[in-house]
This record gives sequence, C-alpha cells and structure tokens, in this order.
Amino acid sequence: MLWNAAAERITGVPSEEALGRAVPEVLQRELRSESGGAAGDRLLPIRRGDNEVWLSLTEAVMRDPAGETAGRIFAFRDISAERVVEQMRSDFVSTVSHELRAPLTSIYGFAATLLREDGQFEEEERNVFLTYIESEAQRLTTIVDKLLSVARLDAGDLQLELAPVDVRSLVSEVIDHAREEERVDGGGHEFVLDLPDAPLPARTDSDKLRQVLLNLVDNAVRFSPEGGTVTVGARRRSETIVLSVADQGVGIPDNEQERIFSKFYRVGDAQTGGTGVGLFIAQGLVSALGGRITVQSTEGRGSSFIVELPARDGERVEVEM
Ligand code: ADP
Repeated sequence: MLWNAAAERITGVPSEEALGRAVPEVLQRELRSESGGAAGDRLLPIRRGDNEVWLSLTEAVMRDPAGETAGRIFAFRDISAERVVEQMRSDFVSTVSHELRAPLTSIYGFAATLLREDGQFEEEERNVFLTYIESEAQRLTTIVDKLLSVARLDAGDLQLELAPVDVRSLVSEVIDHAREEERVDGGGHEFVLDLPDAPLPARTDSDKLRQVLLNLVDNAVRFSPEGGTVTVGARRRSETIVLSVADQGVGIPDNEQERIFSKFYRVGDAQTGGTGVGLFIAQGLVSALGGRITVQSTEGRGSSFIVELPARDGERVEVEM
C-alpha cells in the first residue's frame, strides 16, 4: 500500500511495480516473521539485480478492532556497507593471527632446535639460525607497530616529532634496507634510485616518513613479480617534495584505487599476505605531515604511489611561526 523513495532506492524496485502486489512477488522473498516483529530487529538479505543487499528490518502488525491482522508495516535499513566492514574486520583478525603465527613458529622452531641440540652445530649454522630468529622477530615488531599505528590514528593521538630532515638521504637509507631484505629473502627485485644531486631539506617527522616509504616499497615488492624493478624517486617541485615508488607489478583496477586506502581493505582475495592496513596508515601519516598520497596504476602494468610533502627548511618555518 505504501512504498517510499528509500524503499525504491534500497530494493531497486520502483513504487509502480511494488504497489498492489504481495511482498514475495516484489522482493522474491517473504519479510514477515512468525512472531510478527515481537523478536525485534532482524537481518536478512534480498537481491537487487546482481547484488545482495542486507536489510536490518523491523516489523509491526496492524490489527483491526476485532484483533485480526489488518496489515503489516516493515521498516528497513540497508546495512550492506556495515556488513562489508564487519566482514573485513573479521578477515583482518584471521590474517593478523596468521601473520603473527608464521614468524612465531619460525622463532620457536629455531630456538627449540638450538636449545635441544646445543653443541652439535657449527658456529656458521648457529649464526644462520640466529639470523632467522632476529629477522622474524623484526617482522613481528613491524606487524605489532602497524597495529599500534592503526590504534593511534583511530584515537587521533599521533605524536609528531618535527625536525629538519634530508629526504634524499632518508630515501637512500630506506632503499639500502630494502636491498638488504631482498638479499635475505631472495626476491630478486632491482631497486632504482632517482634522486637529485643536492639534499632535499624538509621539516618533517623522519620516523613517520620512513614508515610510509618502507610500506610503499614493501607493497611494490610484494605485488610485483620476482626480478621486477622498483623505482624510488624524490625531487623538489616548487614548495613541494614529491616522492614516488613505482613498480612493474599486478597493478590496481581503476575502481579499487580509492578503496585501497581504507582500513583492512585488500584487492580481491589477497593471497599475498599483508594485513590491509598499510596504506590506511600511510595515508594517515602523510596527511598528519601536511601532505597527500595518491596512486596511478594500470592493471597488469604496475603502480606508482606518489607522496607530496610540504618542502620547508628550518628558516622558513621560523618565519612562518
Ligand atoms: P596489505 O597489507 O594488504 O598490503 P595495504 O593497505 O598496504 O595492505 O594495501 C592494500 C591493498 O592494496 C593490497 O592488499 C593490494 O591489493 C593493493 N596494493 C597496495 N600496493 C599495491 C601495489 N604496489 N601494487 C598492486 N596492488 C597494491
């Protein structure tokens, strides 16, 4: 009898089609419950074209003076987006558990082996085991740091420590670290640096900027084939320092490029490890530093992440203050 504009939007069925027909004909499913709504809100899915839409539904039964059912009122809300977030959150818990368990298993295994068979290993072997323990512990620290960064960004209590930084040497340092990791992991990626001859002074938080770059480089490596080239550049463009991390990897479909910055989001079923929070953190940190981060990507060809930061030197900051 009544089908408002929101009902049209949520179900995709125009009121001309809905009015005068029974619910199951209109929605291909029944909305009424045995209890007549006494059980409170219910969650149920309906189809809208090719999509599944989740409704949060309340129901009220209208009765005539004799107490017979005269009609029903259904009020529903589209909660599909909340469900997607809920789903991503629960995927996140399972991927994080997995990501934490993998290094823990190695650390435990190597430590237990060393303890049990102490004395039977050559110095060199022991060193290999200990190096694994060290690098896996480092991996755990990185994951835990990411979780803490997410919590800080959510709570809005990010502490910045601004100081004069030479972005050029910070980039070189990050790449030295990435090369070392590649040597250990054997991924065979090649790193190309594209830096100016002169230093790139900025007043920024070097730890935060390092975290952003490490994460972008780590993604570039994980989402590109072995032996691919990762190009990291930095330059000054008038009042801005422009950093870029480009890979020749799988790329990101156009319609996903905005969403990859949201918390927990990963493209497809993400078989590549990772927790889906790296870019969320990167975006949070870059914007706290007064800059912005963007992506350009072609599916199958590669991606290029660009970070733009205000280029300020110490003197100019004093003038501004
Ligand atoms: P994750 O821990 O999953 O890497 P991120 O927030 O860093 O989390 O990235 C989110 C998603 O964005 C990734 O799961 C991946 O699908 C996509 N992505 C990020 N960087 C790249 C890249 N360089 N190339 C292709 N896809 C990328």
